[in-house]
Amino acid sequence: MFHFGRTVDYLRISITDRCNERCLYCLPEGYHGWERQPDHLTAEEILRVVRVAAGLGFRKFRLTGGEPLVRREVPDLVRAMAAIPGVECLGLSTNGTRLAALAAPLRQAGLRTVNVSLDALDPQVYRRVTGGDVAAVLSGIRAAVAAGFERVKLNCVLMRGVNEGELWPLVLFAAEHGLPLRLIELMPLTRTDVLTEANFLPVGEAMEFLRQRDELLPQPSRHLGWGPAKYYRLQHTGALVGFIGALTTPHFCETCNKLRLTADGKIRPCLGDHGELDLREVLRQTTSDEAVREVFRSALQRKPLEHSFRGQYQPCRPMTAIGG
Ligand code: SAM
Repeated sequence: MFHFGRTVDYLRISITDRCNERCLYCLPEGYHGWERQPDHLTAEEILRVVRVAAGLGFRKFRLTGGEPLVRREVPDLVRAMAAIPGVECLGLSTNGTRLAALAAPLRQAGLRTVNVSLDALDPQVYRRVTGGDVAAVLSGIRAAVAAGFERVKLNCVLMRGVNEGELWPLVLFAAEHGLPLRLIELMPLTRTDVLTEANFLPVGEAMEFLRQRDELLPQPSRHLGWGPAKYYRLQHTGALVGFIGALTTPHFCETCNKLRLTADGKIRPCLGDHGELDLREVLRQTTSDEAVREVFRSALQRKPLEHSFRGQYQPCRPMTAIGG
């Protein structure tokens, strides 16, 4: 599908808003926005959406959440998605805590790429950011590498004074294991008391920090898929580091190629814009796939030229409820 002269062919599908961690930037302790009885799309509904999207020209799909691996049927869902004609690239974003057991079955089911959140290596810092146990994540990363995915990337959300001291250890870890590391600016998708100036660390500063320790060699644009990261190879350590500066990078949205599907069945045309279209009602009221296609077309029309994070954007739904 085309919009503002770009091809939109990437659907990011959140399959749950629940998570087994409590990341400061995504689902902080004390978040009360849950529906008591979540009414998530069923696996059959998700597959119907994927079939329609693939028919419209979507080629890249990623399962996310919340934590997608808290849903038991993920390997079956992956297998069924991978068999749909047009599904060329199928990825998963995870916090890695359940990957040790699931990496091999997911790979066998047809999953091609995995992104793992890793905000710190130090167990105490990791626990402060996520509430979880970094040892489980490191086992998950090892299992993902052993399972032979086409790509395993690491994601780290930068928070000044929280995990900035972990930056260099993470770069060395990424280099040692040959895994790309992406450094992500904190987006306003969590509780406002976390979103302080003091917590925000621009990617430009992280870049300068790395430049004082190594030489940064820019990599071609569109490196490692079609994500928004700008990649550099660190000449001496060999690490490949991507910077995702959603707030500070001019023209950040220019190459945005995605729509999002939330776990409760809303199409969200832009992460940084509150507009959403209700697909769940359409899926449940009609068997007509044309009606589903129509929602996609309307969503595309409503995709803004750029996000509103730099304006007066107020987080009504945290990242976990949208799907990162
Ligand atoms: N639980 C999975 C995980 O940890 O990757 C999938 C969901 S998580 C929302 C997906 C990605 O969104 C993670 O890489 C996470 O770091 C990122 N993320 C979440 N909240 C964010 C925020 N407020 N700003 C920037 N990135 C965020």
